[in-house]
Amino acid sequence: MRWKWLTQDKILSWDISHRKNMNMMCCLLCYANHDSHSHLFFECKFSTQVWLMVRQKVGMDSVQPKWDDIVKWLLDRSKSNSAADYVARLLVAASAYLIWQERNARLFKNQLRPPETISEIIIQQVRYKLMGAKLKNCDNVRRLLGDWEIKGTELQDDGG
Ligand SMILES: [Zn+2]
Repeated sequence: MRWKWLTQDKILSWDISHRKNMNMMCCLLCYANHDSHSHLFFECKFSTQVWLMVRQKVGMDSVQPKWDDIVKWLLDRSKSNSAADYVARLLVAASAYLIWQERNARLFKNQLRPPETISEIIIQQVRYKLMGAKLKNCDNVRRLLGDWEIKGTELQDDGG
């Protein structure tokens, strides 16, 4: 299964060698290009639309729909423990995963969803992850959860 190695944790260590056989295929999201890693994430017209709809949610407004730019932004903050950077990582992983899933849905199930729907699912998925995350009950986190319409009562109490 191709998507087995495309788990959200592994998305940053993408192995390009797995994808050679994909290069022959027309992109099923825009039908205007070849299906390749850099095209899908996120230079494809479809993916670009998705990225532009979700990026401001995590303060990545200035980050262009290019894999290298997005990864660089994340790597610059990879040692950060801030909740905001954690959410950014969740969002990028969810975006890549959902775009990949949509591509597969078109390939195998002939199912076709617009970028608006994909963006909504990405936001939902990040919300669910945030609800389940053990975040510190502090001002920053409460503000962040407010932005995601999650009530503070769902926070784990820090004990102190
Ligand atoms: Zn495309």
